[in-house]
Amino acid sequence: MSSFSTTAIILRRIDFGDYDLILTLYTMDRGKVSVIAKSAKKSIKRFSGILERFSTLRIVYTTGKRKGLPVLQEASMIKPFEHIRTDIKKTAYASYWTELVDEWMEINFKNVQVYYLLEYVLSELDAGTRSLETLSILFQMRFMALSGLSPNLNNCCICKTRMEEIKCEKMVFDLRKGRIACEACAPDSGHIHLSKGTVKQLQWIGDGDLKRAVRLRLAMRAINESLNFLEIFVPYHIGRELKSLKFLRQIRR
Ligand SMILES: [Zn+2]
Repeated sequence: MSSFSTTAIILRRIDFGDYDLILTLYTMDRGKVSVIAKSAKKSIKRFSGILERFSTLRIVYTTGKRKGLPVLQEASMIKPFEHIRTDIKKTAYASYWTELVDEWMEINFKNVQVYYLLEYVLSELDAGTRSLETLSILFQMRFMALSGLSPNLNNCCICKTRMEEIKCEKMVFDLRKGRIACEACAPDSGHIHLSKGTVKQLQWIGDGDLKRAVRLRLAMRAINESLNFLEIFVPYHIGRELKSLKFLRQIRR
């Protein structure tokens, strides 16, 4: 039997029988891991009732020789993020981000930057000092970059003109190719329209210093265009419908 100690964010928790919970975690040292928390439902004392969604914990779990899920042995709270769970809109955003990580990241594939990014946006969401929309734009842009699925927003994919030198104000995003074109080159094609100003802000929020990017004040138009674009682009490249995104759209309406 081997024992591992790491910090972890709870992405998902499901009931398993009358007594146990199965948790999907994103850990700092081993990426995504699913563990079984025995008697967590039967006895509150067992894990002091801290195994809630989005919480950041220090955990110890063990893996045996035989097949079966690793077993959670110890858990202590680092950040409870209770302001997320008591606010339905914050819960909707956090559910979307954690579902993306859960759907896209592979088991035991370590990516410390993904861990820090998720922990950072959850902290800011909990603190409530930043706009939820800006946090979601920031998370999606950076998560896609870390996953190697960044949209190419640097130049028109047809005439190759760099974004800074493009004259027309409207841009068209080609979802299938993951690239952008100026309206002059692609007047009718593409499904998603973005203004040039929005594209520049997306580039900045995706590459700039994280703590400065999160302070960026986006105009309503840029927020609406960016969310519309990313919430189509991201599921398309992940290759799945995301349940939490449906919920988020309902809440926002
Ligand atoms: Zn062009």
